[in-house]
Amino acid sequence: MKPKTALQKKVAKLSATLRPITATQEQWAYNHCFEHFAYRTKNGKMACSDCGHVWKSDNGGLCDTLAGCRCPNCGAEFQVKDTRRRTQNETAYFSVITSCKGFQVIRVSQVRSESRKGEVRKLYCQEVVQRWISPDGKVTDMALLRGFTFHYCDCWSYWSAMEIRPHNSLYDDVVAWGDVYPRMSVIPQLKRNGFNGDLHGISPVRLFKGLLADPRIETLMKAGEIEEMKYFLTNTRNADELWASYLIARRHRYHINNIGMWCDYLQMLKNLGQDLRNPKNICPEDFIEAHDKASRRVEAKREKELTECQRIYEMERREREQQSLLQEKEREEEFIALKSKFFGLVISDNEIEVKVLESIEEYYQEGKKQNICVFASGYYMYEDSLVLSARIDGIIIETVEVDLRTLKVVQCHGKYNQDTIYHKRIIDLVNSNARLIKERMTA
Ligand SMILES: [Zn+2]
Repeated sequence: MKPKTALQKKVAKLSATLRPITATQEQWAYNHCFEHFAYRTKNGKMACSDCGHVWKSDNGGLCDTLAGCRCPNCGAEFQVKDTRRRTQNETAYFSVITSCKGFQVIRVSQVRSESRKGEVRKLYCQEVVQRWISPDGKVTDMALLRGFTFHYCDCWSYWSAMEIRPHNSLYDDVVAWGDVYPRMSVIPQLKRNGFNGDLHGISPVRLFKGLLADPRIETLMKAGEIEEMKYFLTNTRNADELWASYLIARRHRYHINNIGMWCDYLQMLKNLGQDLRNPKNICPEDFIEAHDKASRRVEAKREKELTECQRIYEMERREREQQSLLQEKEREEEFIALKSKFFGLVISDNEIEVKVLESIEEYYQEGKKQNICVFASGYYMYEDSLVLSARIDGIIIETVEVDLRTLKVVQCHGKYNQDTIYHKRIIDLVNSNARLIKERMTA
C-alpha cells in the first residue's frame, strides 16, 4: 500500500533506513526458539539435530533423555529423542525492540528450522512485521503481504515488500507469540513513563501503546501496581467506567486483592443502582462477603424483573385475546344485520337443497370442507352477495354466490373450485327461484 498520511510517509522512509536483523540476533533466535536434540535409533546411533554429526553412543545410559548432553562435534547441548522420524520442521517468531528517530519500533521476524537426520539443520529468518509507535502512542504498521488463500497465519509472501499495511489483528498476535530479544533500545518517553525494561509478560506493543497514550497505565506502572495495570490494559471498558472509583479506593488505602473480582463487584453495585464513588460501597471490610451478597442481590433483582416481564406479557396476551373476541362478536353482529333476512331460505327441487349460510362459522366450515375461499376472502361481509350451499342429503355439492343487485348466480363451484355433474342444474334452480330471494329483500 502506498503511504498516504504524513505519518505513514515518514515511517516508510525511516523503515528503509533500518539495518537488517543482525546475525547475532538471528543466532539468538535459533538457539532460543527451537528444540535442540539428537535423533537416536534402537541400535544406539545418535545424530545431532544441529550439525548432522552422527556417532555411536557407547555411554547411551548416561544420556538417556537427560538434558545437558553435548554433541561431540558442535558442542550443542541437547535432549535425546528416541525416534524413527528423520525430519523435524518448526516455525517461530521473535521480536527485536529498537528505536528509530523518536519512534519505538517492534520488529517481528519469523524463523524456520528444517532439520533432517544426518544433515546440517537449515535455518531461515525473515522479518515480516514492523510496528512503529510514535511518542503519542499511535501505531503504524509495516508488513509483508500475507498469502490470501490461507487464513493460516504462518503463510507470508516472502517476495512481497515490507510496506505500509492497514492494521490487521494478526500483527498483534505475532508480536504476542514471539519471545523478545533481550537487548532493547527504548525511547526516552517510555522510560519517563515508568518502563524499566521489564515487559511483565505483556505484549510490548500493547504495553508501550498504553504507557504512551494512557496516563492511567503510566500511573499504575509508576506505582508498581502491575496486576492492576495488566488488568486495565486488557479490560478497557472497566478502565473507562471504574477508574475514578479505583482512585478513590486507593486514596482510602484500600487493599484490592484481586482487581478483576473487585471490578466485577463494582459492576454489580452499578447494576443495583449504588454510588460507585462512596468509599463505604466500594471499600467493603469483608470483600468476599460483600461480593457474594451483591451477586445474590443481582440475581434476585433479575428474577423479580423476569416475573414482572411475565406478568405484563400475560396481561397483554389476555387483553389481545379479549380484543379479538370482541372483534369476532362485532363481525358476527354485523353479519346478522346484513344477512339475517335471508335466514331459513331454502330452494329445493326435491333432491337438491340450496340453503343460505347462516353464520360466519358456517362460511368457515363450508370453505374448509370444500377447499374454497368463501370464508378466507370474507364473502360473509359483502353487502351485495349472498352465499348458499347446494346439498344432497346434507352433503355439500356446490357453493353458490348470488349477486343481490341482479339476483343472478355469479359463481357456483364444487370442491377445489371444480364443477360437478349437478353444476348446471343448481344454477338453473337458483336463477329460476330468484323471486324467493327478492321477497326476503323487500320484506
Ligand atoms: Zn552437533
